[in-house]
Amino acid sequence: RAKDTGKARCLIYSPRLNGPSEHDISLEAAMFQAVREGEFLLYYQPIVDARTRQIQGFETLMRWKHPTLGLVPPVRFIPIAEANGLINLLGAWALKAACVQLRQFQEVAQRALYMSVNISPRQFRNDKFLDVLDDALAFSGLSGDSLVLEITEGTLMIDPVHAEAILVKMTERRARIAIDDFGTGYSSLAYLKRFPISVLKIDRTFIKDLPESSKDAAICNTILDLAKHLNLSVVAEGVETEEQMHFIESRGCHYVQGYLTGKPMPAHAALAALSEKTYAALVTAPPAHEPR
Ligand code: C2E
Ligand code: MG
Ligand code: MG
Ligand code: MG
Repeated sequence: RAKDTGKARCLIYSPRLNGPSEHDISLEAAMFQAVREGEFLLYYQPIVDARTRQIQGFETLMRWKHPTLGLVPPVRFIPIAEANGLINLLGAWALKAACVQLRQFQEVAQRALYMSVNISPRQFRNDKFLDVLDDALAFSGLSGDSLVLEITEGTLMIDPVHAEAILVKMTERRARIAIDDFGTGYSSLAYLKRFPISVLKIDRTFIKDLPESSKDAAICNTILDLAKHLNLSVVAEGVETEEQMHFIESRGCHYVQGYLTGKPMPAHAALAALSEKTYAALVTAPPAHEPR
């Protein structure tokens, strides 16, 4: 743990505090090369029914396989791509590839599955975003209702009037909107009433000290209550232990995403997990929650 923290700290990109380090600048140069070389790839993390543990969908998580640095995590390169605009290109590619991938997952599993894709603030504000979305759906042949688009509270708050217009257009494509890292941003609860949101993702920071932390327990209970009254689905992020799973499930959280039920993995591994879990669920599972 201590070692992990040390590592993470020296990797944090904080341009506002220090300005970009030389390392960031060389990483940025390498990113353009990496796009040409096809070094970016997509991992998929299962989102499961908390009770049956059957896979309901996946979140697409980007990775950069650098020839010498190895696997560069998104906390390292997404902020740079967001700053220099490369995120529009990377994000458009990820969305399209994720839609294509989901079609294959659906074909193998022969049942409804969805794909959840992160949309960064800059992508969301880009004029071309709706074209990118339409292109991804048309190219893949995926129906919009199989897609969940994850945005953060921050993305909504930059320009709420514009955000509302875009969200409405997204839902016209039948895509659902999820609020990622819910509860960690600066925002007002009023936006839950105003905007067409379907899913709240409880941030991992509220899950990691469960069930011991009474404050985190209170926060999770409150989010779940709120979601119930507003008729929103909830996904608990970062569930790593059976105790956390039990807590969250017993409080009425229907969906879970975390290392306990599956780490982010390449498509071939996701396909294998899907086949196993589909089979296991057919044979042993109690009735699933209502599909979303
Ligand atoms: P996020 O969207 O909140 O994604 C969830 C993160 O939590 C992922 O980190 C995932 O690997 C991690 N995670 C899931 N379960 C557990 C767990 O049980 N324990 C722990 N310790 N971690 C868990 P990852 O893949 O490193 O991504 C970090 C962030 O980078 C994402 O947070 C998202 O904000 C951003 N990101 C990743 N891929 C993309 C992308 O394609 N586009 C954009 N715009 N952002 C992306
Ligand atoms: Mg996310
Ligand atoms: Mg999150
Ligand atoms: Mg996050």
